[in-house]
Amino acid sequence: MKLNELDIVQAAEGLKKGEFSSVDLTQVCLEVIKKLNPEINAFITITEDLALNQAKESDARRKMGNSRGILDGIPVAIKDNIAVKDYPTTAASKILENYITVEDAFVIKKLKEAGAVILGKTNLDEFACGGSTETSYFETTKNPIDHSRVPGGSSGGSAAAVAADMCIYAIGSDTGGSIRQPASYCGIVGLKPTYGAVSRNGLFAMASSLDQIGPLTKTVEDAFIVLKELAKYDEKDSTSNKKGEETIQKIVDLKGVKGLKVGILKQGKVANVQAGIKNDLEKAVQKLKAAGAQVTELNLPILDYALAVYYILMPVEVSSNLGRYDGIKYGYSVALLRDATEGQASSKETVARNLEEVYFKTRAEGFGDEVKRRIMLGAYASSAGYFDQYYLKAQKVRAIIKKEIDDAFKKFDCLLLPTTPTTAFKISEKTKDPIMMYLEDIFTVPANIAGIPGISVPFGKEGNLPFGIQVLGPEFGEEKLLNVAKALEEADG
Ligand code: GLN
Repeated sequence: MKLNELDIVQAAEGLKKGEFSSVDLTQVCLEVIKKLNPEINAFITITEDLALNQAKESDARRKMGNSRGILDGIPVAIKDNIAVKDYPTTAASKILENYITVEDAFVIKKLKEAGAVILGKTNLDEFACGGSTETSYFETTKNPIDHSRVPGGSSGGSAAAVAADMCIYAIGSDTGGSIRQPASYCGIVGLKPTYGAVSRNGLFAMASSLDQIGPLTKTVEDAFIVLKELAKYDEKDSTSNKKGEETIQKIVDLKGVKGLKVGILKQGKVANVQAGIKNDLEKAVQKLKAAGAQVTELNLPILDYALAVYYILMPVEVSSNLGRYDGIKYGYSVALLRDATEGQASSKETVARNLEEVYFKTRAEGFGDEVKRRIMLGAYASSAGYFDQYYLKAQKVRAIIKKEIDDAFKKFDCLLLPTTPTTAFKISEKTKDPIMMYLEDIFTVPANIAGIPGISVPFGKEGNLPFGIQVLGPEFGEEKLLNVAKALEEADG
């Protein structure tokens, strides 16, 4: 096995035994990135100097007997909407093309404290708005398994980087499925923690009431290891919840599913789910039963409203959060025309005659079509006259969905659904029809709406294309969820 193909547990073992150094491991990953990235386009920025310095420091610590634990010296890729100090964070938008980050995100601080080696920043849909990475200003990422297909999104670069063994693991963000869906399309593990378990400080906000950071890994065990590092209370994020740290730090190991009650959601069996996925969901049920879980079917009709609720609430929050990119505070700016001489020196398109035009032109030129679509939808749904009809109504339905899901967890330890209705689709297949694109999120958005954890575990294949099965757990029920996920992983194949 080549060094870049190792998972976290294997890489940590090799480092501990002195079979190779962190610099060796990092160099191999960087070589693979340089070889594959021109085709796959998983990375927007490669932070080679940072990675090699961190690797050297890690090796020096290890030599002195001061290793910081399992993640020390292990290379990671970071989604480019998460702040890494002194390097660009673009959110895959022209509006932040030349923006250099001034501070580390909370999760980056934690990873650095753990000795992580940061290889670079990965591609995504612009401001995480999408499910294919096709809305990135920096061009689409290709699925490493089939280059004519999307890797999913919005954390498509992170998923592709892990699947192509360009890194050992990656970090992504999930607002409506952006960790789980690309994990499913690329055949890896993706975990969205409970809302509030991981700090959002330093994550460039998409929809703040739904956003959550989490790991994309090669195994369930690795997802557990990274989650433990990330799930720490942060007083600087008002939605950071101490319960996350308390419950997650208590998990010692994954003990299996004996006696756990798993509910299989009827939605996973409806007509528009690809046949192979439906069949394998059935297989998953049998395997979980064989491993000692009690599995029964469950009907939660309210979930049929989740996608509609998401596509009202999310754009409203997007339109509010993206208001800060106005050409004044940071990022791309259309300059203000001050006098005639300056005006002659600049091209007409990039100057504005007054402040309003600075805002207007900066945003018109700086944002892509999908982001603009969401800003417009969100502004509409929250405007006077429509607020009650759309935003308020969606909030009410969100509360009902949350209550019914929480009630279901009084009877079940975990719920099971496919991660996506299909396997990875062709590049350009859905770009002309946003609704078709949005429908891919049908099984992932309920977890964000209810704030519960969800994980996608690779389970089967249709042809050569992998897909995942999704396990949902109760709020702060990551332990149960990881146990069921592990059982599914062991049953795979
Ligand atoms: N595909 C979903 C969307 O386009 C999810 C995005 C996300 O989780 N960031 O909104």
